Amino acid sequence: MPYNKPVPKPSPLTQPFWDGAKEGKLMLPKCVACERVHWYPRHICPFCHSMNIEWIEGSGEGRIYNYAIQNRAFGGWAEEAPFVTAYIDLDEGDRMVTVLRGVDATDPTSIKIGSKVKVEFEQASDDIYIPFFRVVEDSS
Ligand SMILES: [Zn+2]
Repeated sequence: MPYNKPVPKPSPLTQPFWDGAKEGKLMLPKCVACERVHWYPRHICPFCHSMNIEWIEGSGEGRIYNYAIQNRAFGGWAEEAPFVTAYIDLDEGDRMVTVLRGVDATDPTSIKIGSKVKVEFEQASDDIYIPFFRVVEDSS
């Protein structure tokens, strides 16, 4: 099935992220000065304002911080509605917005805050793979 949602265009700032995604890796920007991971990619560390940023390979794992059911959407996303978007607390630090798959969007009570999730990637074009997360262990 062809990918019919908006496809991100990499910039020099984000290219390392997309290069990693193509290989199934969740690359994360990390400040060399304060050693904290931040999301999203920036030229300047949001914590200490250093411009010395490197990329690390993240574990691709985290936990659900919060989520929302998307009952309506536009374009290609309309075909997926209802679907779930979530904030994920990454194991390396900071928080990422994502689509959460493998959950029942018609039963919000089935989705548990704190559940462990892992990243997967969906091919959007020849070079762009879009990350999303899937629950691997419910929080109890
Ligand atoms: Zn820093």
